[in-house]
Amino acid sequence: MYEGNRSDENSFPKKKIVHLNPFQLRYIMKTIQTHDWLESLKPLFKKYGTRKHPLEHKNHYQLLVMVVLSARDSDKHINSIAPALFERYPSMKELAKATPEDLYPYIGKVTNFSSKAIWLTETAKVVGKDENIPHTIEELTALKGIGRKSANVIMSESGDEMEGGIVDLHTLRVSPRIGIAIGTNPVKIEKQLTEKIPQKYWKQLGMSLTFLGREICRPTNPKCPECPLNGVCEYYREKG
Ligand code: SF4
Repeated sequence: MYEGNRSDENSFPKKKIVHLNPFQLRYIMKTIQTHDWLESLKPLFKKYGTRKHPLEHKNHYQLLVMVVLSARDSDKHINSIAPALFERYPSMKELAKATPEDLYPYIGKVTNFSSKAIWLTETAKVVGKDENIPHTIEELTALKGIGRKSANVIMSESGDEMEGGIVDLHTLRVSPRIGIAIGTNPVKIEKQLTEKIPQKYWKQLGMSLTFLGREICRPTNPKCPECPLNGVCEYYREKG
């Protein structure tokens, strides 16, 4: 899920490819690992750590449905179509009675709506009722249309104990810029982030990096002078 211009999200600034020898790579990894990232990220947590997720859900059921719908669409759009959908299908139990086609009038303008309609109606039939919505990564990712990132968002917003960190397109972009992680693989980025930040901060971590990417650390022209991390950010140090 993300906000704004879709093509903008993928327009990473072009970077020169730098080949590192094993010694340089080991040195960089050691520097990343020994840095006190919790301390460095505290100004970011202070700014964004208690922000509510932009999806305007009222319960666990609505959260799950909206997270599935928001994949490759904007939270703002999903917030606009959700009230009518939830008026007609107020719970898993009601949704379980629907066919995928029944959902089209409500979600027809959502990206990839036909697949999402199949996933949601199948999920509703599997889960049956709201109280049965899973609370673990393993069970959530077993449902159609829910990957690891979506499962982490659902757990984070439900108040469940986090089993990982939320790594969306924003986190994927800003983490290597800051210097807290390297690479482009979401699973590897998540591992590096959660190794450096204690579990009790994982919810704040996910929300903070996402909001940083949405509002300040944009794909092009990041607003570094106003960023709470400009004192520790590698990208800013190199470019500034
Ligand atoms: S200092 Fe600039 S590049 Fe670094 S995280 Fe902040 S906005 Fe992004």
